[in-house]
Amino acid sequence: MNVILLGPPGAGKGTQAEILCKNGFIHIATGDLLREALAQKTPLGLQAKAYIEKGALVPNELVEALVFAKIEQAKSSHLLLDGYPRNASQCESIDTFLELQKIAISHVISFEVPEDELVTRMMGRGRKDDTEAVIKNRFEVFKNETTPVIEHYASKNLVHEIDGIGSVEDISNRISEVLRLNTIPQVETP
Ligand code: AMP
Repeated sequence: MNVILLGPPGAGKGTQAEILCKNGFIHIATGDLLREALAQKTPLGLQAKAYIEKGALVPNELVEALVFAKIEQAKSSHLLLDGYPRNASQCESIDTFLELQKIAISHVISFEVPEDELVTRMMGRGRKDDTEAVIKNRFEVFKNETTPVIEHYASKNLVHEIDGIGSVEDISNRISEVLRLNTIPQVETP
């Protein structure tokens, strides 16, 4: 089972991804990877800095290298892609890459949360790129660039819309239902 989480900033993807990891998923979150690179001041992190601070997308080729390396490392695990692909070009790249790796996306979870709720949540998060102007820009980027990604996977019948309003547990239950998580083979205890 290989899952892509899509949704506007602040929709709760990261929180739900953490919960899903308990079911054996390998979480690949481009935002986290980029922030980590930035904190460690790697060349990639330094190149990404200005984009992250503006709420703009980091150039595709920088993010791609990062994500593809992680996917190769995680081979044969359940993949959970969070924050990637984020535009049409990344979508095309990942589809080609996954096909070569013989990996199929099984589900795309699209979080549905109204914008005013998202702003409230993000202002309470205290992340450096959660200022009002940057948040606004990230919404714009999501609407303009990420909507085509959702449409692309919808045309393949992979998209499951999840109501992102409610408690963490409610939302987690909705996702579990979509993924039928009780059918993931568990390691048998002797
Ligand atoms: P996130 O934690 O997913 O909200 O991402 C934080 C920031 O990292 C974004 O505003 C972008 O600047 C950058 N970023 C994360 N994922 C991507 C991606 N797939 N492509 C380009 N930039 C990204």
